[in-house]
Amino acid sequence: MFSVLIMAAGSGSRVALGYNKVFLEIDNQPLFLVCAKKFIQAGIKEVIIVASPSDYDKIVEVTDLTVIKGGKERADSVRNGLKAIRSEYVLIHDAARPFISEQLIKETMEAVKISEVAFVGKNVTDTIKLKEGKQFITLNRNDLIQAETPQAFKTALIKDCHEKALKDNYCGTDDISLIEKYYPSINIKAILHQTKNIKITHQSDLEVLKNRESNMFRIGHSWDIHRLVERRKLILGGVEIPFDKGLLGHSDADCLYHVVAGSLLGALSLGDIGSHFPDDAKENKDLDSKIIVQSAYKLIKEKGYEINNIDLMISAQKPKMREYIDLMRKNIAKCLETDIENVSVKATTTEKLGSIGEGKAIACEAVVLLKKISFQTK
Ligand code: ZN
Repeated sequence: MFSVLIMAAGSGSRVALGYNKVFLEIDNQPLFLVCAKKFIQAGIKEVIIVASPSDYDKIVEVTDLTVIKGGKERADSVRNGLKAIRSEYVLIHDAARPFISEQLIKETMEAVKISEVAFVGKNVTDTIKLKEGKQFITLNRNDLIQAETPQAFKTALIKDCHEKALKDNYCGTDDISLIEKYYPSINIKAILHQTKNIKITHQSDLEVLKNRESNMFRIGHSWDIHRLVERRKLILGGVEIPFDKGLLGHSDADCLYHVVAGSLLGALSLGDIGSHFPDDAKENKDLDSKIIVQSAYKLIKEKGYEINNIDLMISAQKPKMREYIDLMRKNIAKCLETDIENVSVKATTTEKLGSIGEGKAIACEAVVLLKKISFQTK
């Protein structure tokens, strides 16, 4: 019943990337596929990509969806796409609007079934002025709507409009404008919304994309416990703490460093410390756990992340940690190339309860938030 044309036929020259903006990627997917996915999720079975002839081969290579060659102007491209449509209704969507929501697509589909023509748009918040010679006229904001896509039509109707426009050599800036011209009595439904449905047009729009990308956070958690025994050094967060016992382990048993590394690995689903530093490997015997932290940090850095903040908790009945905490924070901040303000270390006793309370063990816990810093443009 519904088809959608994803218009990826423009050259995208205003973005000045040196390649068509539809090849920009969000989460490793080109914009036209990000859009296609949204329409598929909204229940549309026939999704057709309209590509510019010069990008056709490249687009066919990355998708199993139907791809149709566009024409010289946007209207030519839409007309080429419409020729392939057999369903009763068609939505036309600009591939440069990757943030369209599934909800809005569904609302558009519902609306077009009732009124034959519908489009997604916004109320205008800026004051718009019309220039007439040397004069300006301020338009009434309440009368203005900013038209976006998708725009939805009864297929026969929009096909007819495009044929008429071709004969008249009329060129509208969107498809709704053809309805306005050839079927002015049709009741067009505007679906007004306040969500982000921006069109990537200028370099500055890319910044929005970048910000969206850099807002991608990952959370990681880790918990670890080591037995307290005699004739071992007590090392936590790289600080040697004077005490009559120390933590037992294959490495230097720095429980705090272990949870730092464990939470970083966890945030990116990279397994646990044991899988990276097996505790039966000879080379890891008495290993300085700082190396474990550094290598976990290297992995998250390679994946394009940095530390937003990390919160750590030491559970120990004895000794008192207070005077060593700032040194631990400093060590950890240095390993993670972050500001000390982003590293929190707290200590608690367990009120003499359990093995920790009886002084048999020390446990540590970490929660880390990672922030994506890299942005893929191609
Ligand atoms: Zn451990």
